[in-house]
Amino acid sequence: MPQQHILKIAEIFPSIQGEGLRQGEATLFIRLAGCNLECSFCDTKYAWKEGRKLSTAQVLEKVNKLRYHFPSQWVCLTGGEPLLQDLADLAKRLKKEGFKIQVETNGTLYLPLPVDWYSISPKPDKYFYRPEYREKAKEVKVILTKNLDFELIKRLREEFPERTPLLLQPQSNRKWSIILGTKLLRQALKAGLKNIRLSGQLHKVYGLR
Ligand code: SF4
Repeated sequence: MPQQHILKIAEIFPSIQGEGLRQGEATLFIRLAGCNLECSFCDTKYAWKEGRKLSTAQVLEKVNKLRYHFPSQWVCLTGGEPLLQDLADLAKRLKKEGFKIQVETNGTLYLPLPVDWYSISPKPDKYFYRPEYREKAKEVKVILTKNLDFELIKRLREEFPERTPLLLQPQSNRKWSIILGTKLLRQALKAGLKNIRLSGQLHKVYGLR
């Protein structure tokens, strides 16, 4: 019997995609355990832990069971930071099962995987991300943290092609963060920056995971 690839998994669950341009679409989430950053505002700190060890086959079995009751075209590999683990086998098998794959990453790591939708969210204070994402990212999410300033928005806008939207996402939909987002959007409009949009976390509005 071939050796099974083992992954550390925080959780697998069906929901809607609450963030970004895919907002509102039914999605099966595979949350990989572990992260290479420790953002103070992280809303998935529970995923920093070791997680449950599951073989790729077990992950796939679970995903297919969920799909039976919650038919979804999309699987989202999220975290934590999903790209800390070798996802080649899982991605290959998910594609074989006919899924579209989204990866949500902080952008610090890149793996050549058959991914349909890279959603990157560079994090403070350096906002470092791998250059491959300048072409590959379908969207860039910027979390509206207290120290975020307009210069960073400008820098990211210059670095990514104009077709890639920069989404200003309030930190856990908090009021001060929403106010900051509208202020930064106004500044961006005045400065002539294109394709900057306000965003939010729909799953929190609907009380979903
Ligand atoms: S990169 Fe994302 S998952 Fe990791 S600590 Fe920061 S917010 Fe949390």
